[in-house]
Amino acid sequence: MMGRFHFEEIAVGEQIRGLNDRSRRNFLKGLTATPIAALAGGETLLGQTAKKPEVAPAPERREARVPFPPPRKKFVAIQIGARSFVDEGVDACLDTLREKGGVNVVMATVFTYGTGLAGRQVYGEPLPDHGVQEYDRVHGGSFTKVHPEFYADSVVKDIRAPELGEFDILADVIPKAKAKGMQTYALFEEAYNPRLMPNFEKVCEVDVYGRLGRDTCFNNPHARAFLTSMVSDWVTNNDIDGLMWESERQGPLNGTLGAHFGTIGPRRSICCFCDYCIAKAKEVGIDGQRAREGYIALDHWVSRTLSGPRAADGSFIGLWRLFVEYPEIMAWERFWYTSQEQMYGLIYGTAKGINPRLQVGWHIMHLVTMSPFYAADTNYARLVHVADFLKPCPYNNCAGPRLARYIKNVQSTVFRDMTPEQVLAMHYEFFGMENDPTLDKLPTAGLSGASVGVETKRAMADVEGAIPIYPGIDIDIPTGLNEKRTQPGDVKAATLAAFRAGAPGVVLSRKYAEMKLTNLAGAGEALKELGVY
Ligand SMILES: [Zn+2]
Repeated sequence: MMGRFHFEEIAVGEQIRGLNDRSRRNFLKGLTATPIAALAGGETLLGQTAKKPEVAPAPERREARVPFPPPRKKFVAIQIGARSFVDEGVDACLDTLREKGGVNVVMATVFTYGTGLAGRQVYGEPLPDHGVQEYDRVHGGSFTKVHPEFYADSVVKDIRAPELGEFDILADVIPKAKAKGMQTYALFEEAYNPRLMPNFEKVCEVDVYGRLGRDTCFNNPHARAFLTSMVSDWVTNNDIDGLMWESERQGPLNGTLGAHFGTIGPRRSICCFCDYCIAKAKEVGIDGQRAREGYIALDHWVSRTLSGPRAADGSFIGLWRLFVEYPEIMAWERFWYTSQEQMYGLIYGTAKGINPRLQVGWHIMHLVTMSPFYAADTNYARLVHVADFLKPCPYNNCAGPRLARYIKNVQSTVFRDMTPEQVLAMHYEFFGMENDPTLDKLPTAGLSGASVGVETKRAMADVEGAIPIYPGIDIDIPTGLNEKRTQPGDVKAATLAAFRAGAPGVVLSRKYAEMKLTNLAGAGEALKELGVY
């Protein structure tokens, strides 16, 4: 069954890529919820389908919506958590966003247990020039009302965030945004807190050693039911204009190799090897046991490379030999990404089945502009058939320290035969970057605004115009106090670079609560310069 599904998935993608924008929309409109869900991941060997609960029909929506954004305007979105609306007042907040940043789309965080999209400034960073001047604690969960009837099939049910009382980031914001001509998208991410989510052990990944992970498994039917329950609830009960999900993680190969900008710890999380994954892999002809052996061998290789003396063969030859010996390592990595794409398909089909006019898209994490491994795995061209837009994140300011850490990580494993400076120069070549800082200057200099244009062009070329690309613009994403800090000119340059590369819109990121208004105004300045404010 998976084989058949896979074939159909590509067929749909190819059909859509061959269409222009208007015919693509019509093509999608012609597909009702059932075939989309069936083609794009709702129907798997696990028998998990995107079920719609039997509840009252969705509230009446305005007919024929006016085109958005209006003529001679751009799509200018901002990510914002409920805490900001509560602290500053919904109307006042929306006015600030419009006036300073030229914002016309509110990407409102409906679900997270993390601090990247919710709460005030993260602890330790200077408080910005607006909002309550005090740090807070994020419990997290759902920042909109939870309708229990939608969670009948979900083992995870109790998710309402308690910290803001009855405030509802959808019901309390949408009418006010609409009155100001602004759209509202529901924004959610995979930032879970197993300690605060009863039954999380029933939806989570299992690593190569049998330990429970902190993320949900894409192939676990309970995890799939949980996500479709939330999406069905939000889309049915609120007149939202769009939906964006952040699945901020990568497959087991990249993670094991330390191809990220975090710390390479001794307890690497190598996922997922749960029973659902093993069974599904078997159906597509991948031997889970061989994959497990391959990943354990790879884990040992990483430990030896990190702490041991240089092997006679060097680093790269030994690693490549392992790939040749265990082709299942690559197969398992691809299996992980295919499963993630199917999860995108399931969410897409679920949401569009309830409201076909909804714009559904995916945030593609920052690593996509640093790691050739992650950029190769995340195939924009394949995502066009399960997305109405994509938001790649060429965050150029925090890229300073982040890229420096990423380079240090991969230099200590895959590229240990080279110097860190050589590894950085090679990465600039991989991504077609010119005149960017040397490794010693990188953490304090960040990358140029022009680098935002480079990724925008790459993404636009990959999707061949099938869907819009809205690059994420870095405004005060936290860095160390002695590292690159955002300035108004950086935001203006990045925004200009995105639009000059041809993007029809941008997403100001990560969250309003950590942005200085003087920096947010850099986006407004860029719009004014382009005559589209
Ligand atoms: Zn699994």
